Amino acid sequence: MRLVVDLNRCQGYAQCAFLAPEAFTMHGDEALMYDPQPDDAQRGNVLRAAQACPVKAITVEGMNGAPAAEKAGASHVG
Ligand code: SF4
Repeated sequence: MRLVVDLNRCQGYAQCAFLAPEAFTMHGDEALMYDPQPDDAQRGNVLRAAQACPVKAITVEGMNGAPAAEKAGASHVG
């Protein structure tokens, strides 16, 4: 599982650090540190954190065994 946080979007609300402290840690008031490859055991917490982020700054990639829902937006031309 891979994890990307858009730090330009992140406003330091710390929702993620609250829900998945193994993967996200706040340093100071707004600096977010995160583990880009959290253990699969953290998947539930990480997904919850991604959904809870008020600015949707968290992207979770590489969900083994699940079809990539993000690809649903692809369009065919011609
Ligand atoms: S919940 Fe979102 S905005 Fe808040 S610290 Fe985490 S990534 Fe940043």
